[in-house]
Amino acid sequence: MQDSLSRTIDYMRVSITDRCNLRCQYCMPNDLPWVEHSAILRYEEFLEICGATADLGIRTIKVTGGEPLARKGSVDFLARLKELPGIERVTLTTNGLLLEPHVAALAGMGLDGVNISLDTLRREVYQRLTGSDGLAKVLTALEKTVASGLKVKINCVPILGVNDGEVADIAALAAEIPVDVRFIELMPTASSQAFTGLSGEEVLFRLLEKYPDLSPTSERRGYGPARYYASEGLLGRIGLIAAVSNHFCGECNRIRLTSQGFLKLCLYHEQGVDLRRLLRQGAGRQELAAAIEEAILQKPQSHHFGQEDEKHGIKNMSRIGG
Ligand code: SAM
Ligand code: SF4
Repeated sequence: MQDSLSRTIDYMRVSITDRCNLRCQYCMPNDLPWVEHSAILRYEEFLEICGATADLGIRTIKVTGGEPLARKGSVDFLARLKELPGIERVTLTTNGLLLEPHVAALAGMGLDGVNISLDTLRREVYQRLTGSDGLAKVLTALEKTVASGLKVKINCVPILGVNDGEVADIAALAAEIPVDVRFIELMPTASSQAFTGLSGEEVLFRLLEKYPDLSPTSERRGYGPARYYASEGLLGRIGLIAAVSNHFCGECNRIRLTSQGFLKLCLYHEQGVDLRRLLRQGAGRQELAAAIEEAILQKPQSHHFGQEDEKHGIKNMSRIGG
């Protein structure tokens, strides 16, 4: 469907859990309490909401978290989403730690893509940043996922003094294996305050030293936020997601569903609708769809990241799902 600004809304990110097996410092504070189980939607409830959004024109669903693979039954849930009438693409965003044993099942169900978050290729940096000595596991899973034929994108958040010196090395993964490597600007949240992210432009500047022929592709991949660049030296593309320095709100196609069933209309704004309350009060599919439609018509025009007086639009990224 279209919102009140004639933007086509056809993509929904669904966070199926607030829990995570990592503690990436810029994402999740150490002392963040877990949401109680009864407040988290059951898979049946997610499917009911996803079905209602499909009726309204949502065609792509990205399953995220916390760490989605840390929730029991998540792979079966992905398979059920794949079978939902109206849903054309289902993808997964994961930190990759628990991915390897599920690769065959994900490939078998025809999952449309896996995004693996990988901020560093250095074991000590990984350990310091995430609190886990799991880098080798993630790299093994990455290799296996690519070998399975699943479409893989790597997501990296470059941060000054943490991994900014590795931008070219991480991009070089796209020279070895057919993956797109995407660099995402750090968004201001309560947890990320202590860090300074690199802008898309700064990343591009660093990459041009190693890949001087890097140039923008004309191709737009759906209406996703990444601008893609290609080089003769790379099998995959480089994507820059400059959400803060160069926002793309005018083309925004997405809504977000939190694990507690709150439909968020913009990453930045609190505005949305409590679908869990409606569902648990007995709302049927049509009633849900009507509430979602009404909410989408209220979708804010733009975020205010980067504005000095609006520093903390997002409290916890791990609860929203990125
Ligand atoms: N645990 C999964 C993962 O790491 O891919 C899914 C959830 S995680 C919140 C999704 C993405 O959000 C990750 O790629 C992570 O790097 C990104 N992220 C978290 N906090 C961020 C921030 N402040 N700015 C930009 N991206 C952020
Ligand atoms: Fe967990 Fe993903 Fe946040 Fe890291 S980025 S703490 S893996 S939710």
